[in-house]
Amino acid sequence: MVGIEPLHNLLTIYACGPTVYRYAHVGNLRTFLLLDLITRLAHLNGWKTRVIQNITDVGHLIDDSQVDAQGEDKILEQAKLEGKDPFAIARYYEAAFHRDLAALNVQPADVYPRASESIDLIIDICKRLQDQGHAYVGSDGSLFFDANSFPTYGAISGNSLGHLRPGHRFEGKSDEAKRFHADWALWKNAGTDRAMTWPSPWGNGFPGWHIECSAMSLEHLGDSIDIHLGGIDLRFPHHEDERAQSNSAAGREVVKHWIHGEHLLFEGRKMSKSSGNVVLVSDLIERGLDPLALRLSFLESRYRTQLDLSWAAISAAHKTITRWRSHLAEWRSIETTISEATQAWLTHGLELLQEDLNSPALIQLLRRIEKDETTPPDQRAIIFDFFDHFLGLDLGRLPEHESSAEIDALLAERESARRNGQWKIADELRNALAELGIEVRDTATGQVWEKR
Ligand SMILES: [Zn+2]
Repeated sequence: MVGIEPLHNLLTIYACGPTVYRYAHVGNLRTFLLLDLITRLAHLNGWKTRVIQNITDVGHLIDDSQVDAQGEDKILEQAKLEGKDPFAIARYYEAAFHRDLAALNVQPADVYPRASESIDLIIDICKRLQDQGHAYVGSDGSLFFDANSFPTYGAISGNSLGHLRPGHRFEGKSDEAKRFHADWALWKNAGTDRAMTWPSPWGNGFPGWHIECSAMSLEHLGDSIDIHLGGIDLRFPHHEDERAQSNSAAGREVVKHWIHGEHLLFEGRKMSKSSGNVVLVSDLIERGLDPLALRLSFLESRYRTQLDLSWAAISAAHKTITRWRSHLAEWRSIETTISEATQAWLTHGLELLQEDLNSPALIQLLRRIEKDETTPPDQRAIIFDFFDHFLGLDLGRLPEHESSAEIDALLAERESARRNGQWKIADELRNALAELGIEVRDTATGQVWEKR
């Protein structure tokens, strides 16, 4: 990876994890995949990795610009909505997050620290910041970070303090509790009539979202971290605030590289609940698509460009994976040595990835090799197998058989309905099969079917 030089071949990465109050949609998953791609490339480079991804299970408000202690926590709100205990909500969606990652072949992080289990660490760093003069107690009893005490605020996003206008994003009555409009809460004093609170030197309350990441990254990775990752929407204010806190506490520049994944659009619009275009991994499975088709769709564009995804693109990726799997099953040979030409392809493909993860160029290269008659099949297999360590598409898996138990059962059921003159049921089953891509026709001797 050009420009990245891990000390002693150990690459340390911190990735901002999910706030576990709902299922991750595929836009969120695109950011989580970026962590996996960097980790896999590091391994291909022969480096070791230490990867930490936090689980935010407390303290992320509906609108974090409202640092008001009465502000609604995303998890508390969902708990109210579902009529469940907030910790039950958090654990449920945390488990769903891990299932989604597994479906996309994302290799697990080394540690997934939970904010709710890191409260002592968070209180420690808050105390340190207060002792150092970077934090003060506001008129509502909450502890605030003094943005003006950190001269290089804005270095990641370009939003320096002089450019931030009061009232632009900081509204709400809690503004009255702090000294300066761009200051933010490290610990929110919340009294006792609220779930998910803990005792602290600043009263019973809960941590701010930004300080969670500073506390957990410093604890698990120390004060020199190679890469800090997150979606582009976290660049400001979340990462600016994290940087101010971590650098102030550690007395040094903690993170060497901030890397941000770009937004995902779906059929032209940003994926959001309000747009009604939220797509989950389970939606792919329901449509009979391999979740890894999503992974290939993501790989076909650069992580730092916006990607406009569609069902057509995911279906096309599904077909590509299926084709590659059946090719590979044919191409492989037991007695194989790597030819010089193949070695050159491998080197070239790796170089593409070192240039800021140019995965679309790698995929184009593979499409070329797929059709290249001058490369013997066994050599093509070596190349595809090698790059699958990065692509993570399970290309070694045998392609799914044309039929499946489900299709077989539906066909048998329809045949018997037809024989018994249950035409309405037979028609319904015909529609169900059509959904699975199976076209059924009735002939004098019985039903025949083919895959469309
Ligand atoms: Zn974070």
